[in-house]
Amino acid sequence: MSNKKKYPRIFKSMKLWLILIFLLIGTIPAAILRGGILRSYETKAVSNRSIDILSQSRILGNQIIFNNYLEDTSSEIINSQLEQLSNIYDGRVMVIDSNFRIVKDTYGVDEGKTIVSEEVIRSFGGEEISKHDSDNGYIEMTIPLTDTESKESLGVFLVSVSTDSIKLNLEYLKDGALVIEISMLLVILALSVMISMRLVRPLSDMSRQISEIQNGFTTELKEESYLETEDISDRFNQLFGRMKVIDESREEFVSNVSHELKTPLTSMKVLADSLNGQENVPLELYREFMGDIGNEIDRETKIINDLLSLVKMDRSAADLNISSVNINEQLELILKRLRPIAEKQNIELVLESFRPVSAEVDEVKLTLAITNLVENAIKYNHPDGWVHVSLNADHQYFYIKVEDGGIGIPEDSLEHIYERFYRVDKSHSREIGGTGLGLAITRNAVLMHRGAIKVFSTEGEGTIFNVRIPLNYIAS
Ligand code: ADP
Repeated sequence: MSNKKKYPRIFKSMKLWLILIFLLIGTIPAAILRGGILRSYETKAVSNRSIDILSQSRILGNQIIFNNYLEDTSSEIINSQLEQLSNIYDGRVMVIDSNFRIVKDTYGVDEGKTIVSEEVIRSFGGEEISKHDSDNGYIEMTIPLTDTESKESLGVFLVSVSTDSIKLNLEYLKDGALVIEISMLLVILALSVMISMRLVRPLSDMSRQISEIQNGFTTELKEESYLETEDISDRFNQLFGRMKVIDESREEFVSNVSHELKTPLTSMKVLADSLNGQENVPLELYREFMGDIGNEIDRETKIINDLLSLVKMDRSAADLNISSVNINEQLELILKRLRPIAEKQNIELVLESFRPVSAEVDEVKLTLAITNLVENAIKYNHPDGWVHVSLNADHQYFYIKVEDGGIGIPEDSLEHIYERFYRVDKSHSREIGGTGLGLAITRNAVLMHRGAIKVFSTEGEGTIFNVRIPLNYIAS
């Protein structure tokens, strides 16, 4: 178990992530656009209003100067125009003279009072000032009332108008945008759910197909919606095919083992029964049959021993017992042990060492592998034949060659000889005590050492087995 923090399983759902991603991609730009449009609307509306008021104020300002309104505020026309301006824009208009005295206030509350503010002072200097207070919702403008001839500021025109109507429009727009946005969100949600389901479907299909394969309804995974799923399907099918082959070969192996183990037992049973079924069996026959039974027991023991060796070889490379071994000495020992068998057939057994070789190997397993090869070369030979074993090495590998002038292996059997229980000639092999496991053991031992084995053979002429093994054991 990993000690990672556990999130609810739903967070691992690809569908959920796709939906979230599509939602974000769909809604974020819309939200940014809405914010931007509403903000620029407000700025534009405020600036339009300021420009309107400014131009009207300038016209009014000129009339104020022309009619000497600062001295005498009784002009009906100007008063009504001032009222009109303040009504239209829902605001307040004040006219201030050069003594900072308010000569006219459309609210009528501050007339006669003095006003000294930064803006008013700056406007007396000739500046037109416009200020927008968005928090409190008004625009305030101060415009100098300048004498057209002397260019002297005689007073200041102060207009302050409410921006409530702009705010109200903005609220309407916001509401409208919200409705559009919510509808959009729903549409995008529906679309993203649909698209995500469509995108993820091949994966669910694959999972379903795999469980069908598990239950034995089909044997092939086929999902071609994407290149990637096609690739996974291909790889899965390859893997599944390999597993099937392994499974079949295991079944075959078990049935072979049972068969091989039963054969000697059947022979023994036949021999024992025929002895038991006869009266007054002569001692000679007893001896002969008991001798045969003994031979069958030996054979059974040999098969069991070979099977045990094979099982040991099947384990992982970690089971190798690596040590530095003098290969020349080891080969001499193997040949010494096998010489008596060779001599029985008058077979010449020769070892040729090209150089001293010492290598990191599992002594027992390598000895077993080479013994099998030399034993085969003797077993499948002609009387008075020959067997040559040679040893050579370069800086990386050592090479053992086992060559014989024996009966050879037919070409179509060459690819099968490493299979368990495979024998070219079953009856001949049995006669000379073969189990069909020897080369399987040899090959496994060589592969465990990360080596290679190759065979060359011509029927009737002889066989060569070449083994190549690294001098230094390569741990994986
Ligand atoms: P066995 O126990 O029968 O010898 P092996 O696995 O050692 O089984 O060999 C498999 C088969 O390969 C043998 O039955 C034999 O037919 C063939 N074979 C192996 N080595 C040689 C050889 N040197 N010459 C001819 N045939 C061979």
